[in-house]
Amino acid sequence: MQIFTDPKALAAQCRAWHAAGDDIALVPTMGYYHAGHEDLMSYARGLARRLVVSLFVNPTQFGPNEDLAAYPRDAERDSAIAAAHGADALFMPEPAAMYAPDHATWVEVPELAKGLCGIDRPIHFRGVCTVVLKLLLLTGADVAVFGQKDWQQQAIIRRMVRDLNVPTRIEARPTTREADGLAMSSRNVYLTPDERAVAPQIRAALLEAREAVAAGETDVSRLRELVLTRWREHMPGGKPDYLEIVHPESLEPLQSVDGPALMACAVKLGKARLIDNILLRS
Ligand code: AMP
Repeated sequence: MQIFTDPKALAAQCRAWHAAGDDIALVPTMGYYHAGHEDLMSYARGLARRLVVSLFVNPTQFGPNEDLAAYPRDAERDSAIAAAHGADALFMPEPAAMYAPDHATWVEVPELAKGLCGIDRPIHFRGVCTVVLKLLLLTGADVAVFGQKDWQQQAIIRRMVRDLNVPTRIEARPTTREADGLAMSSRNVYLTPDERAVAPQIRAALLEAREAVAAGETDVSRLRELVLTRWREHMPGGKPDYLEIVHPESLEPLQSVDGPALMACAVKLGKARLIDNILLRS
């Protein structure tokens, strides 16, 4: 596995691979790998002759009061994991290599970025779209793989790629979970043992909502109340940022569950802000 820090050098290598007839799969990440990242890498490894993994804690997707400085990092361990999963290249640029001091160009999908995580993180998806498009242009990736844990993110990236005719196929993988159901996240390290003990309630409540839908419930406010009540009772200290039922592609809020529906949430638990989602109906 080659390690690249210079965007131009990565682009040159990717052009050489394409010239030799090799296709390229890309897995963009912010590092501090867990089994969810490993699943994306293993899956992407099977999609193309060449696998590029990027590891970049992208400053432009963090708001001023968010955890950019505290975001967990372990480049040495991460490189070993990427290599073990068959990456041909690991791209780890410094922020200055990705953003010129007078960087002024942004890519946005405001319609899909205004709700859910966009409410509390108004510049987040603009940063995500901009950095992902830069990575797609640098690598010329034939396919890029994202996680459904960040459902809104993959929906926005699909729309950006479609709207801008980016010739990259976007694939999304199901959420990898701990044995007790908690969605794996690099941010789970922020949880104290007590918070970690109650965190699986996030998923447990979403599963309850899905069961209610399977049993015939369609009313959005009753489904939200079911989840919020369970959290209040079983997850003391958990503060929901949002809990919404939306269309899985348009992300428009739904009034009732009578077609495809996604329930998505963000919950603050101590220092961690945890997100999760579940397809109530597909
Ligand atoms: P991150 O490094 O957290 O920005 O995530 C990099 C990629 O891994 C994104 O496409 C995420 O959606 C994906 N990812 C993060 N956590 C999980 C998980 N638990 N299961 C599946 N994919 C995940």
